[in-house]
Amino acid sequence: MQVKDFEKQYRKKFIDTFAYTYQEGSKVEQLAILAEMVKSIINENWIATNQRYQANQDKQVFYFSMEFLPGRMLKSNLLNLGILQDVEKGLKELGLDLEDLAKAEVDPALGNGGLGRLASCFMDSIASTGIAGNGNGIRYRYGLFKQKFVDGYQVELPENWLRNGNIWEVRKENKAVTVRFGGDVQLVPNVGGSFDVVYKDTLNILAVPYDVAQVGYQNGVVNNLRLWSAEIPYGDEERFNLEKEREEIKKITEVLYPDDSNYDGQLLRLKQEYFFSSAGVQSIIRYFKKFDLPWSQFPDKIAIHINDTHPTLCIPELMRILLDEEKLSWDQAWEITKKTVSYTNHTILQEAMERWPQDMVKTLLPRIYQIILEINRRHIAKKIPLYGEELTYRTAIVSQGQIKMANLAIIGSHSINGVAKLHSDILMESTLNDFYIMYPQKFNNKTNGITQRRWLQLANPELTALLDETIGTEWHFNHTELKLFKAYQNNAEVLEKLAVVKRHNKEKFAAYALEKHGVVLSTDALFDVQIKRLHAYKRQLLNALHILHRYLELKEDPTIAYQPRVFIFGAKAAPSYSYAKSIIKFINALATMINNDKDIEDKLKIVFVENYGVSLAELIIPAADVSEQISLAGKEASGTSNMKLMLNGAITVGTLDGANVEIRDYVGTENFMTFGMDNEEVEEFYRNGNYNARHIYETNPRVHRVLNALIDGTVPGANGEGQEIFDSLVTYNDEYFVLKDFESYITTQLEVDALYKDQVKWLQMSLNNIANAGPFSADYTILRYADEIWKIHPYKGDHSL
Ligand SMILES: *Cc1c(COP(=O)(O)O)cnc(C)c1O
Repeated sequence: MQVKDFEKQYRKKFIDTFAYTYQEGSKVEQLAILAEMVKSIINENWIATNQRYQANQDKQVFYFSMEFLPGRMLKSNLLNLGILQDVEKGLKELGLDLEDLAKAEVDPALGNGGLGRLASCFMDSIASTGIAGNGNGIRYRYGLFKQKFVDGYQVELPENWLRNGNIWEVRKENKAVTVRFGGDVQLVPNVGGSFDVVYKDTLNILAVPYDVAQVGYQNGVVNNLRLWSAEIPYGDEERFNLEKEREEIKKITEVLYPDDSNYDGQLLRLKQEYFFSSAGVQSIIRYFKKFDLPWSQFPDKIAIHINDTHPTLCIPELMRILLDEEKLSWDQAWEITKKTVSYTNHTILQEAMERWPQDMVKTLLPRIYQIILEINRRHIAKKIPLYGEELTYRTAIVSQGQIKMANLAIIGSHSINGVAKLHSDILMESTLNDFYIMYPQKFNNKTNGITQRRWLQLANPELTALLDETIGTEWHFNHTELKLFKAYQNNAEVLEKLAVVKRHNKEKFAAYALEKHGVVLSTDALFDVQIKRLHAYKRQLLNALHILHRYLELKEDPTIAYQPRVFIFGAKAAPSYSYAKSIIKFINALATMINNDKDIEDKLKIVFVENYGVSLAELIIPAADVSEQISLAGKEASGTSNMKLMLNGAITVGTLDGANVEIRDYVGTENFMTFGMDNEEVEEFYRNGNYNARHIYETNPRVHRVLNALIDGTVPGANGEGQEIFDSLVTYNDEYFVLKDFESYITTQLEVDALYKDQVKWLQMSLNNIANAGPFSADYTILRYADEIWKIHPYKGDHSL
């Protein structure tokens, strides 16, 4: 794109659209016109990519996820198209600032946290590695709630992200499909000796796709993310006079469930799951039929991947279509389904394992229910002779009035993977051991990854420039090359530059903290970051108790040479998760007390950012010195903020949990601050049942003092919460072993202080973290999924590795 052409086009396009000049337009309008121009480039590549896929009959993967958390897309699309700098220059000529326009874009919060963000990193990597792949999800009318703090309490406001429309989506009304709910189903024998399925009194819903282009990194590839919206079918408007039915339909894609890991059992959620599973599978079937191939070749052309169990109804839905509409035999349909579907497990937390009441499924999805019963019946009949009744019944899909989605997902797929080595091992050895005995070949590990494009090239341009001038730019395409940076660990000049980059990023965050939260931060302080959903197992509380401990120590003896620190938190709590909300209130109360205490000065500061999401992550992560990854060992399946933070040079303070274990293996124990119990020790406590939190409270003087401060009025404004937290730890025996790991945690934090004082040493550690972050590129994760699970070969595009 020529800069001159760009300016001319931009002026004209703006006037054509709004009938006034761009200088008179708002930021949102200025952004909209820029996006139109970007889309016209994307769309050409999009068509070409589609034509290539169709002409070659390439196998395609469809990644089904209830959540996507893409972040703002303008800069990401410009970067991937290779026109970021040109457009920035062109805008400058027009007197516009790219950064301003980028900020005018909404950050679509169509996900809760890690799971949704993973799906979006994967979409970027699927396109960037040249894999024929599509996303399939829901176009929620309202994204995850907007978080506000009122008097330190979390308040949830609706996130009307579509207020100004979504500049990146394309409504494809001609690709709509019908999804049926409820009613009665009858199997009527037909002349062919099989049966026809007759539905009566169903509620039919039109699923309308909105497609969002997924641009590959400088390879000409554009894939599709298809998000479905529920609407009233054409011609049915009469029937839907009833306000009630209209409301019912509207509701299906109205809101994203704000429960990150505990599932809250509502009918609406089940409707959402079937809605996007069915719509997605129907559109895949329609695509496959264009090729006019025998059904047996379906798995050679299509892979369906389900991100956690939310899209598991893909399995009975694919069976339904193959059986009822395409008239395949059960055995044929079942072979095809298993070969097509693969499943990623994301959690071992029991409360997050999806189960549906049998009656609910029966009433809402009568035909799907019949198919699930039959899958279950055949499974049991086939496995009892092999494994006996006891083990077999433990793997049943239907049991005690419930339908277990993980069991259906495992039985109906050919691959199940965990998301980090430790997590996959726990699945095989314990959580899903019964299934592992039956199907050892189905189990595998795919450690999560992140996209270096968003989390380094876009979020941290200064570090990107330093890497480019030291190790060249090949790492942009091949992230293992980050390893070359290690050669500079003894180069004083590079270390100094690294320090300057970090300082600048800290200054940027400090400016935000001042403007938004009125807190003055010193960039000489160590920036200590914990950003993730608020959950007891993630143990933000352990972090908070450490801060309180430091505070009490400093009040007692102001001469203690603690390294000044800024503790940064970002976290939303599920609205119904009252304990998590109490922890937010408690940390906010702690912040108010400490930030306003004249004795403390810059030695301690706390910033709890409001409304944490992808855009804030992009601001905070480059500014982090320390990455807090302190979940109870065995509970965090993988974590991905740990990867983003190491990539930006933060040193991890972490337990041996999730992907922390692999991060530590790559960076070396000397560049990773390990503390706390490992998974084995935790398991040992579970086996013996002899954990005694009260005993720790009574015998450890530091724990005693900190816990007393929760209930003796030390922290003004958090008396109720302090008592609640105290009780959870002492009276209810501290479910996540916060007190057990406390001593080890504060000792490790003292070591962090000492290391930080030796800036050369610290910068070397930081550099080693950056240099060893390559293996956590989602590109590699995706190439392994493609090679080992989907059996799809990447297209090399313009840039061959
Ligand atoms: C990466 C990311 C997460 C996941 O964080 P974890 O610490 O791995 O739980 C959650 N939310 C957002 C916005 C993210 O970018």
